[in-house]
Amino acid sequence: MPTPRIAATPERLLREEVLALHAYHAPTGNGMVKLDAMENPYPLPSQLREEIARLVTDAAINRYPDAGARSLKEKIRAVSGLAHDAELLLGNGSDEIIQLLALALAKPGAKLLSVEPSFVMYKMIAAFTGMQYVGVPLAENFALDLPAMLSAIERHQPALVFLAYPNNPSGNLFDADNVEQIILSAPGLVVVDEAYYAFASASFFPMLARYPNLLVMRTFSKLGMAGLRLGFLAGSPLWLAQLEKLRLPYNIGVLTQLVAEKLLQHHEILLQQAGQIKQDRTWLYERLAGMEGVRAFPSEANFILFHVAHAGRVFEGLKQRGVLIKNMSGVHAALADCLRVTVGAPQENELFIRALQDSIYQSKNGI
Ligand SMILES: *Cc1c(COP(=O)(O)O)cnc(C)c1O
Repeated sequence: MPTPRIAATPERLLREEVLALHAYHAPTGNGMVKLDAMENPYPLPSQLREEIARLVTDAAINRYPDAGARSLKEKIRAVSGLAHDAELLLGNGSDEIIQLLALALAKPGAKLLSVEPSFVMYKMIAAFTGMQYVGVPLAENFALDLPAMLSAIERHQPALVFLAYPNNPSGNLFDADNVEQIILSAPGLVVVDEAYYAFASASFFPMLARYPNLLVMRTFSKLGMAGLRLGFLAGSPLWLAQLEKLRLPYNIGVLTQLVAEKLLQHHEILLQQAGQIKQDRTWLYERLAGMEGVRAFPSEANFILFHVAHAGRVFEGLKQRGVLIKNMSGVHAALADCLRVTVGAPQENELFIRALQDSIYQSKNGI
């Protein structure tokens, strides 16, 4: 076999940013109480599952989907109460929309700014697309540091700002006036990422009409459709018409279009489940807050961040007891000894609390 003179190794050919990345790792959690990924723990009513089965049976999976996903978009407009003069763009999960935005704005030297700690994909996707990333540290209790934000915006002139609202992994809503000041002073787009809107008490949706550089992104993942991969971006048609050019035409598959539309016809079921999760979040928060050695952070999302001594050992102790949550220690200095638990079904939450008590006891006594 002839050997080429220069070997085609990844090290030689790949962009440095890609070589430096670590692949996003998500454990499967098979057979465990899975409270690590902000999923909705509830199954759908059996009648609705049967309707979905019929839809799938009859689906033309030999054909390409509707490239514009028109019917699904109409349904999303209706359930989200989107104003008539706002436009929508659909993504294969909102992760894909983050990537599309960055790809569109990645002029040489262009910057993507967010806060830290926040959703890790902002930084990763900046690297994917060759944008320069700027991370502004949050203040005490994960609040926005407005002076630091305004001066970073002034200095870096970011083309793109991402604010998760509520923030992941801290769970809090930023001060809305601060966010508005950021929108007003930003020279580029500000994307308010409302992945957890279904569990939160506030939204920037009503502000879309007021700020032409504001876009609001949402996903249906946390509402109970994580497996379908569907997110959307809402905002001014001026922007969305340009961004739409970068969307791969068939990014939303036939099955996702059919099933998501069906689920949105029964939106009240999903909202009811979200309501239950919010109630159980209160239960879980009170248990955590009342536990010795634990400091829980208030949450407007379907997860709770908490601080505990020897978090790594506690996390392993939970795993040994069949409970998978997320270890945030080591992700960022402000998250040292922090763990994040997704609100599950009541029985899962109880199992988690019991396993946590045991794990803390064990790690404290060095067993
Ligand atoms: C989960 C999450 C997303 C991504 O959700 P998709 O499943 O890709 O739609 C985006 N932003 C934040 C803040 C998230 O927590």
